Amino acid sequence: MTTSILEEWHEQRKNFNPSNPASINHMHEFKEKVKLHEQTEGNLRILVDIYCMLRMYSEAYKIFTSVMDLGNKKDQKKFGSIKYYIDNPNCVKPLYPCKIREDKTIKTVIPKFKYLPDPVQSKIFETEEVVTCDCCEQEVDVYYTGGIYAIEEAEYLCPTCIHSGAAAKKYDGSFQQDLINDETVVNANFTEEIMCRTPGYVSWQGNNWMAHCSDYCAFIGYVGWSELVELDITEQFENYTGFSTEELSESLMNNGHHQGYLFQCLQCGRYVLYSDFS
Ligand SMILES: [Zn+2]
Ligand SMILES: [Zn+2]
Repeated sequence: MTTSILEEWHEQRKNFNPSNPASINHMHEFKEKVKLHEQTEGNLRILVDIYCMLRMYSEAYKIFTSVMDLGNKKDQKKFGSIKYYIDNPNCVKPLYPCKIREDKTIKTVIPKFKYLPDPVQSKIFETEEVVTCDCCEQEVDVYYTGGIYAIEEAEYLCPTCIHSGAAAKKYDGSFQQDLINDETVVNANFTEEIMCRTPGYVSWQGNNWMAHCSDYCAFIGYVGWSELVELDITEQFENYTGFSTEELSESLMNNGHHQGYLFQCLQCGRYVLYSDFS
């Protein structure tokens, strides 16, 4: 192993940010560079770590099983954690290279969604690429990849096709799996808007939209306990998770196995928390 690769690896590892597409791409570039180097055990172990960081566990597994020493406690532990993801592929989404837009100014018009005050900020819509909407076939730079509950799959939908109801109509589907606490919602238009004209959040177990008072809530964002602390609302949300606040403070993590979904009532302004597990 040359010193430079090892040094570069330490640098890459320190600066890696899995939620930044540019950082993911840098890690892929570095991976290709390491692959071109001599296949020493040291270099192969770096490759294993890179694949783990990129959550590409089958690739990590293939290489690790060729270099590991199961007499070594550290290797045993590492083998166990890689094996876990091989056996539970649904628990993890690999970080593949991303297409990055040069120009970050959003051109696509985003209509106003009643139940999504800020759909880009709350990560309902993505803006990393330019894609073609499966419904209107227009090129857009703001799009939804959460799909629709329908027989046919929709890969990309634009905000306008969702907002107008065109996408739900075309696919004869809806964006929510279930509605929670909706017994007091009597206005059928509200229900139609949430089911057919509001994109769902991406969840582990299905999009279940919260209602409060006599309307559906606005989706504020994906949260873990630390996000609730940051918002300073740990004492003042309505808890629909089925867990005590103490349990939540220990297990709720954004992008983790116990994921929180934060809503806010459009009528009384209360925060409402829902969660599910991977
Ligand atoms: Zn469209
Ligand atoms: Zn309310």
